[in-house]
Amino acid sequence: MTAPVRTDRGSEELIRAEEPVLAHNYHPLPVVVARAEGAWVEDVEGRRYLDMLAGYSALNFGHRHPALIDTAHRQLDRLTLTSRAFHNDRLAEFAERLSALTGTDMVLPMNTGAEAVESGIKVARKWAYDVKGVPADRATIVVAADNFHGRTTTIVSFSTDETARSGFGPFTPGFKIVPYNDLAALEAAVDETTAAVLIEPIQGEAGVNIPDDGYLAGVRELTRRAGCLFVADEIQSGLGRTGHTLAVEHESVVPDVVLLGKALGGGIVPVSAVVGSREVLGVLHPGEHGSTFGGNPLAAAVGTAVVELLETGEFQRRATDLGEVLREGLDALVGKGVVRFRARGLWAGVDVDPALGTGREVSERLMREGVLVKDTHGSTIRLAPPLTVTAEELRGALGTLEKVLTAS
Ligand SMILES: *Cc1c(COP(=O)(O)O)cnc(C)c1O
Repeated sequence: MTAPVRTDRGSEELIRAEEPVLAHNYHPLPVVVARAEGAWVEDVEGRRYLDMLAGYSALNFGHRHPALIDTAHRQLDRLTLTSRAFHNDRLAEFAERLSALTGTDMVLPMNTGAEAVESGIKVARKWAYDVKGVPADRATIVVAADNFHGRTTTIVSFSTDETARSGFGPFTPGFKIVPYNDLAALEAAVDETTAAVLIEPIQGEAGVNIPDDGYLAGVRELTRRAGCLFVADEIQSGLGRTGHTLAVEHESVVPDVVLLGKALGGGIVPVSAVVGSREVLGVLHPGEHGSTFGGNPLAAAVGTAVVELLETGEFQRRATDLGEVLREGLDALVGKGVVRFRARGLWAGVDVDPALGTGREVSERLMREGVLVKDTHGSTIRLAPPLTVTAEELRGALGTLEKVLTAS
């Protein structure tokens, strides 16, 4: 007999219950969320918090956006999964509209971000052998230090974060790591075996690390000249967050391949995709790559509804306008607990004075005041509220940050 599911436990009890049965690969803030709407979440006891993390940008449209929830409900009542052994009636429109939104030719639908990265790596390697003519098994991919591209064994092979790597070898060969935001180092690393340069246009997990203006255009120029692909990981930076559909648009750059995830699933289901030119994605033939769930009708329906929201431009505009409010608020806190910050659109990495506590400690204090954020490392916290947040809510959260930083 299985024990009955208990729903009458409080937050503290639920946190204690996780300890013996749940793998300890996370160290969550001690808040147990039970429901949410828009930019707000509510815990088991009914306490409300402003969500200033938005699922690492997976919730760009807020919790339970009505148009997305409605689409999901209607799709749940009709068809949820076919596998790619058969066609489904939602996939064509998803691919058409996502490729149109991103200005690309083709779409390879997957589920999680890490799968999109893995798929991007496979496609780049195959392109190197089939199109560029790199000798078999010699292709290299150049990546940046302090990257975050996911958690699979191949992806942690080229991480520079020892915590993410240590104990998980042996690692996948074929990657070269160069400093981020350094075109000379990139130039020196690229050679005739290079399949691709894979970078984040803004490094999210590294603390919203924004490269100098000209870097992304430089990467585009360099990769074009060297005859290798530019693969942009826009899983966190893309789909409205920076004020553009894609963060590379800040420098009017068009990569060969773009990796999307997180917000593409509307906060409802995991949806990711590799989008790119026909020359690159055209290298895949039946049987060479796949996914049981990739492109499933529920994911395609929700993904199409996400694309529909972005087609209006409303969310990109909100990110730009609210980004001004965020920047102004943070400017006012520099010297008052904030050492420095980096921001683009509605996305900021804030370095707090280490004397005031670690990023984790500041996050815990903010939580007790009704604002949820996440530290990245050291004394850096990341602010990435849903793009649906209001200016007033944002100012409220900045006021709470000021209170937390000046009270200690
Ligand atoms: C989150 C993230 C990933 C991995 O996505 P998962 O869905 O967690 O596998 C990859 N790249 C970037 C830039 C990310 O932010």
